[in-house]
Amino acid sequence: MAVKTIITEPNKILRQVSKPVAMVSESEQKLMDDMLDTMYAAKGIGLAAIQIGIPKRVIVMDISKDQDKNEPMYFVNPIIKNKNIEKSIYEEGCLSVPGQFAEVERPSKCEVEYLDYHGQKKILKAEGLLATCIQHEMDHLEGILFIDYLSKLKKSMIIKKLSKLKNNEDRVVL
Ligand code: ZN
Repeated sequence: MAVKTIITEPNKILRQVSKPVAMVSESEQKLMDDMLDTMYAAKGIGLAAIQIGIPKRVIVMDISKDQDKNEPMYFVNPIIKNKNIEKSIYEEGCLSVPGQFAEVERPSKCEVEYLDYHGQKKILKAEGLLATCIQHEMDHLEGILFIDYLSKLKKSMIIKKLSKLKNNEDRVVL
């Protein structure tokens, strides 16, 4: 298990469409272990493989509030089967868009079919934060970030801020 570097916006890698996994093998399980370590280290509640530069349709999540008891969830090749017409609004953030938050409207409930950590087919009926989180993470598989739902102006302001931050990181202060 290892903590990987999380790719942040702006970066073209985040815009790639991830490829389905043919079979959940040991290498995918190792990837999920690493992703979970990376997510916990960054104090996030969800992470898609592309955020550490791997274009596979793999997601890990843990929306449990209890810090002492982890409840990891693993999603391989997730597909949304049903979406609610009703919407709900959550303030979203993203480990690839550090320090930025905005309200995003999404279907309040959805049904997701996926393969779990052991490659078993599962169906999850999600609502509330879980539904929002899984839809946010599934967007990553299509190269979509939550800032894409904001107005052009707001989005460009956020990207500008993040670019500035990146440039500052490269600066050497002596
Ligand atoms: Zn995200």
